[in-house]
Amino acid sequence: SYALNPRYLFDNFVVGPSNQLAHAASIAASSSPGKRYNPLFIYSKVGLGKTHLVNAVGHRVLEDRRDARVLFLSAERFTNEFIWALQHKRIDEFRARYRGSCDVLVIDDIQFLAGREQTQEEFFHTFNALYHADKQIVVTSDVYPQHIPEMQERLISRFQWGLVADIQAPELDTRIAILRKKAEQEQLHLGDDVALLVAQVVQSNVRELEGTLLRLAVLADAQQRPLDIELARMALGAHQPKGRDARQTSVEDIQRAACEYFQIGIKELMSDRRHRNVSLPRMIAMYICRERLDLSYPMIGARFGNKDHTTVMNAHRKISGLVESDERVKRAIEVIERKVGIS
Ligand code: ADP
Ligand code: MG
Repeated sequence: SYALNPRYLFDNFVVGPSNQLAHAASIAASSSPGKRYNPLFIYSKVGLGKTHLVNAVGHRVLEDRRDARVLFLSAERFTNEFIWALQHKRIDEFRARYRGSCDVLVIDDIQFLAGREQTQEEFFHTFNALYHADKQIVVTSDVYPQHIPEMQERLISRFQWGLVADIQAPELDTRIAILRKKAEQEQLHLGDDVALLVAQVVQSNVRELEGTLLRLAVLADAQQRPLDIELARMALGAHQPKGRDARQTSVEDIQRAACEYFQIGIKELMSDRRHRNVSLPRMIAMYICRERLDLSYPMIGARFGNKDHTTVMNAHRKISGLVESDERVKRAIEVIERKVGIS
């Protein structure tokens, strides 16, 4: 009932600059439990690998010593068991389990104890008993120890006795590596272009990154077509969640305003035609989308009739130059931006 999640191993944890410290500390803690980095405190925003890493610690300890007693549970579960034990007068049993017969105690999401005075009290004594017996304690949280609300000062200070390591949102290369790893595990064929697009669109949450890949796979399956760049562009272009400060102005508004200004049809704007009468308005519209809507190149390409991200990049570069040298281009941008209300 204290089973570790069998999928969360060091082997399938992708290491990059964003999680290197937490990873190294987890390896060290699991190779000499209770001796270095005790307690180990790992914090990050949601979906960045805390639960994965601390499960991996448990697995590694058990690999090295099969009879090691590893307890892994969420702070919520610790709380519930404690309350249950109190109500059923089984507190001795509870203490025997968490203080007496345990070599490694992993408590996930300790912030759950915020404001729970009695459970904090119990955990404080649990912590002390284990610590003084040189047992490894591993704790995760969604914030830095000092920032956990309504947490006893003495617990906060204990959380900092060992090593406090954070995990940041992964960089582009790490996101791509995570996607590759996931695709390999799920036996999906993942092209470099699709991996890059997904990694560019989903930036701040690994769970969402993995979820997006799996959604694309399901979609490809349902439509009986390969998971290729066209499918990915279409799916990600349509379902891009709006950011917190979702803009009023949309890609469509900009496209419409550009068409009006240059007196061309929306179909032409979205086409692949390279005639300057069409390509200049298209490039200008792409440029404004990039400058004003905070959308990635692939996202913009997807919305302009499935153009490649390099097409958008080139358009952006070209117009950036022309803005300086060509009055006509400069003026067009001003008018279009004013029309959509972002001048
Ligand atoms: P947290 O506990 O920080 O909210 P999780 O550990 O639950 O995050 O991670 C969310 C998902 O992302 C899990 O499926 C996990 O396996 C995966 N994940 C996170 N970081 C990595 C990584 N560096 N390498 C591989 N998978 C990762
Ligand atoms: Mg977690």
